[in-house]
Amino acid sequence: MLAERIKNLEPSPTLALDAKIKDLQRQGKEIINLGLGEPNFVTPKNIREAGIDAINSGFTHYTPAGGIPELRNAIAQSLHKTNNLNYSAEEIAVGAGSKSLLYNLFQILCNPGDEVILVTPTWGTYFELIKLSGAIPVEVALTPPFKLTSEDIINKITSKTKVILLNSPSNPTGSIIEETELKKIGDLAVKKNLYIISDEIYGQIIYGNRTYTSIASLGEEIKKHTITVNGFSKSFAMTGWRIGFAAGPKEIINTLIALQGQTTFANSSISQRAALAALEGDQKEVKKMNDEFVARHDYLVKELSKINELEWTGSEGAFYFFISIKKLLSKKYPTSVAWCEGLLEKEGVAVVPGEAFHAPGYFRLSFGASIEEVKKGLEGIKKFVTSSS
Ligand code: PLP
Repeated sequence: MLAERIKNLEPSPTLALDAKIKDLQRQGKEIINLGLGEPNFVTPKNIREAGIDAINSGFTHYTPAGGIPELRNAIAQSLHKTNNLNYSAEEIAVGAGSKSLLYNLFQILCNPGDEVILVTPTWGTYFELIKLSGAIPVEVALTPPFKLTSEDIINKITSKTKVILLNSPSNPTGSIIEETELKKIGDLAVKKNLYIISDEIYGQIIYGNRTYTSIASLGEEIKKHTITVNGFSKSFAMTGWRIGFAAGPKEIINTLIALQGQTTFANSSISQRAALAALEGDQKEVKKMNDEFVARHDYLVKELSKINELEWTGSEGAFYFFISIKKLLSKKYPTSVAWCEGLLEKEGVAVVPGEAFHAPGYFRLSFGASIEEVKKGLEGIKKFVTSSS
């Protein structure tokens, strides 16, 4: 018999879709995958070389559980420069991807029955991480244009609320929380003595003249209540290196490190050296990747506008569009899961149905794929929309 706590774990809803993609590929069908949550770019060369150097120089042993001091230092400096955040190296923990840090954070902050407020549509993983800690996810369900206000949060606070979880720019909507609302949410957390976990993994990928603010930069008291989570996966195309970090009050960071110390222990020594090069080395390739994201984003804005049947509200950051197909659902395709399966079978284009983000009636289109794939995929979507509506 499996343990009670694992019985409610929902496998990733994209697993069935992934199996279908593989099946169609085995049958020799070309699949355009606009479903992936990662950039198609290979990790920049200087970063890869730093990893190779780490191996060749024998930097292959355990490191301290919270990360090598040089990297913690470099992260502190980078947060200061990029996000106007003043953390010391001791207030930073390096871990095996931001996902593992998020899991650990809920473990150390939440008692069974505590409530964690989160915003939907959302990255489905959050629900599972919260439930695994015994806490209860409390949903703020947003509708287009998916702009969170402090009022939305106030309405959900109870005596059991422990954490407010924010993700801006958001996966899957690409929406950024406005600074005025962030400040109000931060003040609310201070007043009610709640923690804020701010997942800022897409913070470096933003469009147009948007600016982006880290909530912990909005005041010393807010900072004391906030744990900022970030990583290297998206902004440096390092998904496979499994490296992320959390920054926050020393007591929490030390507890996080203690838990890591007894579980995964230190992150890969090689990935840590590579991450150090990512922060300290040449940023030319990173800039090129960002320019490419902007080109893809602008192309999609132009082309999606031509498909009248699709409803969407833009993407301010990350590399996703979250598109409503509520008006396209029919007897043949009654749900967004069925619609996405139809698109995959008929046109060979994979996107992720809204159900995966606790928001049925939508699909997420990722432009982590190359511009050629994005163009081909969009053609397939156009055809399917026309034939199925
Ligand atoms: N946070 C969000 C919102 C994500 O979308 C993802 C990955 O898709 C992650 C965290 C996980 O990133 P990492 O690779 O650092 O574990």
